[in-house]
This record gives sequence, structure tokens and C-alpha cells, in this order.
Amino acid sequence: MALIVQKFGGTSVGTVDRIREVAKRVKESREAGHQLVVVLSAMGKTTDALVQLAKEISEHPDERDMDMLVSTGEQVSIALLAMALQQEGCEAIPLTGWQAGIVTDSVHGEARIKQIETQRIRRHLAQGKIVIIAGFQGMDEQGAITTLGRGGSDTSAVALAASLGAQLCEIYTDVAGVFTADPRLVPTAQKLSAISYQDMLDLAELGAGVLHPRSVETARSHGVHVVVRSSFSNEEGTNVGRDVPAPGITGIAHGEHVAIVTLKGEGIRSRTPVLSSLLQDAGIPVSAFVHGSSFLSFPLAKNQLQKVAALLRENREQLGYRELEEEGGFTMVSVVGVSRHSAAKVLKEIMGRMKLLHIPIRWVHQSERRLSFAIRGNKAETAIRTLHRELGLDGREELAAF
Ligand code: ADP
Ligand code: ASP
Ligand code: MG
Repeated sequence: MALIVQKFGGTSVGTVDRIREVAKRVKESREAGHQLVVVLSAMGKTTDALVQLAKEISEHPDERDMDMLVSTGEQVSIALLAMALQQEGCEAIPLTGWQAGIVTDSVHGEARIKQIETQRIRRHLAQGKIVIIAGFQGMDEQGAITTLGRGGSDTSAVALAASLGAQLCEIYTDVAGVFTADPRLVPTAQKLSAISYQDMLDLAELGAGVLHPRSVETARSHGVHVVVRSSFSNEEGTNVGRDVPAPGITGIAHGEHVAIVTLKGEGIRSRTPVLSSLLQDAGIPVSAFVHGSSFLSFPLAKNQLQKVAALLRENREQLGYRELEEEGGFTMVSVVGVSRHSAAKVLKEIMGRMKLLHIPIRWVHQSERRLSFAIRGNKAETAIRTLHRELGLDGREELAAF
């Protein structure tokens, strides 16, 4: 008998019929003799709808109130799944994040799980019950409800698997696994049978929304065996784990709504550490800086632009720049799994292809196994599909070329 954590995302629990399907799948695993902890997201687009409701009341709602609001979505789905399982003749107990003992820090909207007090879950499992837990939420040490950031139910599931010592964490979603690019954008994307924690983390951080980046970090640090698979079919999914040989280029990720900020001025390059710690103190994640002798630039999620521009203006003297330039409307395209020896060749291929397509590249950055570049958002689809083909990802046999 194994202990398995199964997580079902928003589309997988999007309707009452879908919830019934989930109940049937869970029941099958139970009948195969496994102990089960089931983690759910909110139904369909519920979380977006809750965010929208808040916006109708206030431009800048209190973050604590916001978490109180958006955490309600998951409570609905766990209650409904418990009912559906009872209908199937299975004993199940739904628990909210705080009932399940998920303790987080107090960073509302982006909280991190500090620990999970698992006694209650273990007690229910020992009684033979299926334990259903609301994803995306926890409670801080002051007793306030917190949420883990959009897409955070994956992290709830993996953290529970780690704390409970589960043999497997299955992430059921609306695609058949992890692909070489977003299969909704690139129809020729290939499903990977396995991917290493590191490559998965790179893809997730660079925009592949199929797994929440923190879930991959957690899986890596605790060695949790994760499988991403479809909740609509029995197709085999993608194993995420430690000993996966690098296949050459692993895939292409993209992040939309990116802005590029540039500081201009003589000697500005030497200010990179000051800028970096200013942004870090303000809790603004910046993946990379690019600099020349008289400019320093970095990409940013567009919704952070206002906050960052204000911060840079406030600290103009300390940063010593002459001019500040902000440009929005980019998509950041990243190739993951670029080895050091093939980086120059891949970059040349990217430059050549974008030139042929008349797509100007605005920003380029290369780091360990990743190559990222920014292009205008409306050109992204063409660029990614072409690059996917030209880098040999449409047909895996050509991969060796890079
Ligand atoms: P869930 O609600 O199940 O958590 P998400 O929408 O968060 O589902 O994640 C699944 C989506 O991730 C897919 O529908 C797909 O469009 C997107 N996606 C982006 N990049 C990839 C990729 N490389 N492989 C698979 N899916 C990807
Ligand atoms: N319901 C939350 C969201 O939409 C969490 C999740 O689905 O993982 O972001
Ligand atoms: Mg998700």
C-alpha cells in the first residue's frame, strides 16, 4: 500500500460533472489499495472571478482581505468532491489549508510554507479516509489566512507529499504532461516522458505555467517523485525527478506582459549591486541584468512596472543614472537546456531566424543552460513556433545538432 498525493487543477474540477469524474478516478486509486491525499484547486476560473470582484470595490485592497477572499474558491471544490466521493461510497474528509496544519510565513498573496503539522491528516488516513485538502492556502503564525501565489496548489501538493513521505505526487491537469513548449501555442510540441528537477524549474520560472516554480523547488529539495498527467485520459504523463539525462535542448518557455527597464548614464554598470539590492528589498524578482558601459537593463513583469519606476526615481541619486527608459509589451522567450558549448550556435540560430522573420530582438541574456530574449508580444507565436521547429524540437531526432 502506497501513500499517494493527487492534485487536480482548476479545469479538472471546473464543473460538477468534472468533479464526479475526479471522484471516480480517486476511487479507482483507493480500490487499488493506496492511501490518498487529494489536493484541489478552485473550480475553473473562480479565482480570477474573485480577484475581479475585489477590483470592483477597491484598486488596492488590503492583502490580508484579499487572501480571505481568494482562498474561498478551494473551499468550494473540496466540499463538493467530498460529497461526490460519499456518493461513490468512499469515506472522505475535506480540510482547509489551516485545518490540514499548513503553516506559512505572513507574505500575503505570495506566502511560503514553513511547515506542515501532519497529525490530523495522518489520523484521518489511519481511519481509512481519503483526505481532501484545499490547495493554494495556509495560515500564518498569527492565525491569518494566507495564499501561496497564483498556481500555488501545485506547491501545496508537493509540500504535503514531502511532509507525509508520500511515494508519489501526481499532478493532474488539462494537458497530458510537460511538453517541449506550451502545447496550446505550439501544436507540434512533444510530450517529455521525463524531465530533471533543474530543467523543470527553469521552464517553470521562465513562464511554463504547468507547474508552480516553488512546487519544483520543493520537489527537488525533498526528492519528491512528481508525475504530471492528464485528468481527461489515462495517457502516461511526465516524470519529474533527479536522474534524468539532459536531452540536449529541453524546451522553450515564454512569459507574456514583460517590460524592459533601462538606466542610462556613464559608469552605470558599477551600480548593478545597488540596484539589485534595492529591488530585492522591495520584493521584486528580477531574473537577470544586462549591461554595457553606459546602460543597465532588466526585464520585469509589466504589472510591477509602476512600482519599480517609482522606486528608481526615488533613488535616482544613489543609482546615478542620467536617463530612465521603460518599455512594455514584450514577450520573453527562453530556450532551456542549452549547453555551454552549444550556446553560441543556438544564439546564432535565434538571431538568424528572427531576422528572417523581421522580428527585432530587444534584449538577450544567457546563463547556465538558459538563453532568453525579448520580442514584441504580437510576434511571439510565430517566433516560438519557428524556433521550436528550427531547434529540432518538432522532431526529437534532430536534437543532436545542438
Ligand atoms: P491547472 O489548472 O491544472 O493547474 P494550469 O493552467 O495551471 O493548469 O497549467 C496547465 C497549462 O500549462 C496547460 O494548459 C498549458 O497551456 C500550460 N503550459 C505552459 N507551458 C507548458 C509546457 N511546457 N507543457 C505543458 N503545459 C504547458
Ligand atoms: N486557484 C488558484 C489559482 O487560480 C491556485 C491554483 O489553481 O493553483 O491561481
Ligand atoms: Mg496550475
